[in-house]
Amino acid sequence: MTFDPTFVSNLILVLTGFGGAFLAALWISLVIWTNRDIRTRARDPLVQTLATLLVAVLNLPGVLVYLILRPPRTLEEEYQRTLEEEALLQALEDLPLCPGCERRVKDDWQVCPNCHTKLKKTCENCDRLMELPWNICPYCGTPAAGMRRDVSTSVDEALRGLKLNDQRSTPQSSSADEPGEVKIE
Ligand SMILES: [Zn+2]
Ligand SMILES: [Zn+2]
Repeated sequence: MTFDPTFVSNLILVLTGFGGAFLAALWISLVIWTNRDIRTRARDPLVQTLATLLVAVLNLPGVLVYLILRPPRTLEEEYQRTLEEEALLQALEDLPLCPGCERRVKDDWQVCPNCHTKLKKTCENCDRLMELPWNICPYCGTPAAGMRRDVSTSVDEALRGLKLNDQRSTPQSSSADEPGEVKIE
């Protein structure tokens, strides 16, 4: 098998051409990749240009340097992080304040640990926490002790007792219903 010298030189020429084209394509794609990557990580046009130039001039070693120096998070990731931080702060601000000392208290606290102000009361029947102004338990429907419903029934009972006393003290009164009010008229 003999090699034609012109064929060999042509082959070398073609291979060199392909190699050169490949290197050029690689170089251009590295520059494009760097440019895209830095634009997702930095808004400053100067930083974007410098990073692209670094890879354009130094090529593969430039990419290595760029990978070491580039911002660790993309702008999108940075944005997500700020959102998370804001959500955390918001959750903190949403905690209710103690009416006594204005410190943050938790929803399920009965008493402020700082100034001992009563924050919640418990249902007598189911032991769940209730707001102080509530006069009926929203979970089991039990009226809270000493609240309006109890007060009104006790007033009724007291009135009934009065009427009974009136009837006893005035037995001649034939009218069975509400003698007290008749007397007032
Ligand atoms: Zn307090
Ligand atoms: Zn209850």
